Amino acid sequence: MKTIVALLILPVIMLLNTSFNSAINHFVLPVSAERPLSDSLTLPKQLADEKYFGPVLDISPPTIVGNFGEPRRLHFHTGLDFRTNQEEGHKVFAAADGYISRINVNGAGYGNALYITHPNGYVTVYGHLQRFNEEIMQRLRKEQYSKENFAVDFYLQPNEIPVNKGDMIALSGNTGGSGGPHLHFEIRDSLERIYNPMMFGYKLKDDMKPVVSLLKFYPLDDLKYKSDGYRTKVLLKSGIYEVSGSVLKLNSSQVGVSINAWDVINLSDAHIGIYNITVFDGDRMIYEYQMDRIAFSDKRNVLSHTDYPIFANESHRTFHKCFVEPGNHCPVYCNLANSGVIDLSDGKAHDIHMEVSDFSGNVSLVKFKLEQDKSSTLFKAGDLKYTTRFDYDHENEFSNSDIKIKIPEGCLFDNVFFNYSSALSTDPTVFSRVHAVDNSNTQVFDWFSLSIKTENLNSALTDKAIVIYKDGTGATTSRGGKFENGFVTCKAREFGTYYVRIDTTAPQIKPLNVIAGKNMRTYKKLLFKITDNLSGITDFDTYLDDKWVVTDYDAKSATLFHVLSDSISTGEHTFKVVVVDERSNRADYSIKFVM
Ligand SMILES: [Zn+2]
Repeated sequence: MKTIVALLILPVIMLLNTSFNSAINHFVLPVSAERPLSDSLTLPKQLADEKYFGPVLDISPPTIVGNFGEPRRLHFHTGLDFRTNQEEGHKVFAAADGYISRINVNGAGYGNALYITHPNGYVTVYGHLQRFNEEIMQRLRKEQYSKENFAVDFYLQPNEIPVNKGDMIALSGNTGGSGGPHLHFEIRDSLERIYNPMMFGYKLKDDMKPVVSLLKFYPLDDLKYKSDGYRTKVLLKSGIYEVSGSVLKLNSSQVGVSINAWDVINLSDAHIGIYNITVFDGDRMIYEYQMDRIAFSDKRNVLSHTDYPIFANESHRTFHKCFVEPGNHCPVYCNLANSGVIDLSDGKAHDIHMEVSDFSGNVSLVKFKLEQDKSSTLFKAGDLKYTTRFDYDHENEFSNSDIKIKIPEGCLFDNVFFNYSSALSTDPTVFSRVHAVDNSNTQVFDWFSLSIKTENLNSALTDKAIVIYKDGTGATTSRGGKFENGFVTCKAREFGTYYVRIDTTAPQIKPLNVIAGKNMRTYKKLLFKITDNLSGITDFDTYLDDKWVVTDYDAKSATLFHVLSDSISTGEHTFKVVVVDERSNRADYSIKFVM
């Protein structure tokens, strides 16, 4: 099998050799090292030609503010974020010949997004667009009017909107869950797996090495659940990052390490993600991480890959863990020995070195010595207090008269010493006890079932009852839920504080630029703010003189934008907005204006 595989990839390597330079070594790794990425061999030959995909933006040279795989809140980033100089309206081009295969428009997420399917089977994705070209806009509006919905996500036939490489397909924007104007660009295969676009020639000038700031060590023997680990700075000495002192003495025989590092590139001041990390114990490689490709189902492994409590509590400071928890199946690890755990039980000093690399092959070296010393106090141990133990390789359940928790196998990254407590609430808007379901520093990969017994809930209001999640910062989110036999049951995927509230309040609709009777001819747009207090907005509709009309929605600013058509007649018109929340509370608002 391996021989066949090697023969198949050979022509690809030869073609790649000229254009991919240093990246070639990374690219070959999947075969030689039996990496989980073995099916990256299915990359068609023409992709080895970096000219297959062309520029996607009218800014030259392009630069990025985010790269593929960099850890973000609750996910690994799945594309390149091209800089658009803090402005919208840059021309976006088709990366190669193909056809518009999907149009996805939403007030959150990717915002206005286009998908192009190319003859080689790959799909390029363009997100957060301001608007599409006229032909695509017309196709979008047709779909929106036929569904009477702003948010649409639909597939097109190859003959509907074919495109040529370099065609202007859209203008860049800031729609959906975007933190500022930029172009989000992805390359996927037909199985919806997402690739590092740099593998396809989207390389940028980069002769700068990654920056390393901190290391953190974790005891992984019997101290594992009792200690918070030990964090230390590294200092750059003669081009190598080192830990001060000759040998770091640790009171544990099994040790994991994580590294706080980021990459920098020539044409951007952004801190971007690391492409490759290796760890050597002596001459032996014990860990490698490489960001070539992930699937959507892999994205939440970022909760295990990073030291996520630090990420959440310290403005997204990223420590990459260089040991792999048993429930983390993200296909970005290879060359693992003992899951990357450093075994110090021989009592000797171990020479550890790490290489932190970017896609262009700039490498930063980190070197230090570790030794087990039982008298060391670097790992401070507390008491282990817990209610019950959950094993990561089982289904787990916990219940009492007030709560039922059912966690399917595959939800936990490692065994959890689970803590539970509950308290009466003094808040009259809370209709259950307040439950501490472990705490938000324990990460959960996937959905589990949570049922909370209601208290003092009026039987007429049971369909308005929802489960509220409160995280470590005090921020709350509705998890919805369904009332049955005295309990509200929802799906949850965080540990932390939970309780029941009711949502009987309709959303709010506020006009931003319209006043009753006002002449709106010069305004071109009608703007409204729509908000909900608890369960969240699930649908809205807008009507001009009682006929449904499309209105754009931006969730992050909670704003509706209705563009007034040039063909609208002079005289008085009525505009109506209807907004519904997740608990079916409905708000109606009508206003008359003049044109
Ligand atoms: Zn992005």
